[in-house]
Amino acid sequence: MFDKLTDYQDDIIEGIFRRCAADNRPEVMNLSIGVYRDRHGAAPVMNAVRQAEADVIASQQTKAYVGPLGNMAYAGAIERLVLGDDHPVIDSGRLKTAQTPGAGAALRVAAELIRDLAPDTTIWFSDPVWLHQVDFFTRAGLKVAWHPYYDWQSGTLDFDAMLDGLGKAKAGDIVVIHAACHNPTGADLSLDQWRVLTEFCLQRKLMPLVDSAYQGYGDGIEADAAGLRHMAAHMPEMMIAVSSSKSFAVYRDRVGALMLLHPEGGRGAEEAWLHMGDLIRGLYFMPPDLGAAVITHIMSDASLKAAWQAELETARTHVQRLRQLTVDHFTTALPDFDSRYMLRQKGMFSCLPLSDEQRLTLEQDHAVYLMPSGRLNFAALSEDKITYLAEALNTVWK
Ligand code: PMP
Repeated sequence: MFDKLTDYQDDIIEGIFRRCAADNRPEVMNLSIGVYRDRHGAAPVMNAVRQAEADVIASQQTKAYVGPLGNMAYAGAIERLVLGDDHPVIDSGRLKTAQTPGAGAALRVAAELIRDLAPDTTIWFSDPVWLHQVDFFTRAGLKVAWHPYYDWQSGTLDFDAMLDGLGKAKAGDIVVIHAACHNPTGADLSLDQWRVLTEFCLQRKLMPLVDSAYQGYGDGIEADAAGLRHMAAHMPEMMIAVSSSKSFAVYRDRVGALMLLHPEGGRGAEEAWLHMGDLIRGLYFMPPDLGAAVITHIMSDASLKAAWQAELETARTHVQRLRQLTVDHFTTALPDFDSRYMLRQKGMFSCLPLSDEQRLTLEQDHAVYLMPSGRLNFAALSEDKITYLAEALNTVWK
């Protein structure tokens, strides 16, 4: 069987990670991976997480199975974190959540649900988008399509072009929307645009699948969820994939959730949730528990929760400071390049306007690794690195 695999083509993103890991040059600069780094360049464990983990391990009475749908206390805590305590769908009976191994698995489960219930649906993505996001749906055999999103000239979201592109979607199609800190561009919808998009989806009978992977990294925990909260208050049907990887810095522990918003609630919602459990059982059987138990503990303990919020806020402002430092330095070092668009963007990422060839030259000649679309992670920068990056860009843009 395995001898059929003779011409393996590297996945674009994994290929970048592999080349970077094998690069022994001392100046190597990995701006590709979407992990938060502090001012020492470390990807630290949050103190609140370390403390909660110790508490959970000390008090854990059993390691018996939890089940395919995961930890329901985590599911409830995440519903409240993402939607807010007072949201109308909380306690409405319409919201059903599974704990999943990260948002990656949540997206894969969503794809499996769509394939089961609406196999002719097309899934719409922004252009550009985090490439792996599309894989979850194509691997499930679903049709995918792209709508315009980003204006490379101005570094802003081209909302008219987005709606124009989505005008080609048919009733029942699914639109994948990033809740905040769009990956890769950092260009987010304004609250007004969320309102217009909600109305657009309602009128055209499109179902939103909102991916919330960076809550707390844009304008703050509450502000980053405002758009999706509005949408969830108005849509009869919706799905939300949630990642705890970044917000709690628990990337490798694999914690996330998939929320289903059912039009009526009651028995129908219960069945959708149980069906999701069946699909999960066939995909990976069950999610791991420890990370979810740790986050549940943080969210239920006022002092741990406050400590976590403060740490996330420190991370958010650190990334913003690096955005500002980058723009300040680029303004002097690269006078022909107007980088001020980066200050209007949110989260860890922005894109540099580079062709694939220029991006590969940066890798080969300067040991600088960026993601496709020229995405860079500000959290991986420091003052010296910004200087080096500007020099490298000056060479490839000449
Ligand atoms: N959605 C988006 C938009 C992401 O950027 C990522 C991580 N790159 C994920 C989902 C997956 O996150 P997780 O680690 O929770 O699987």
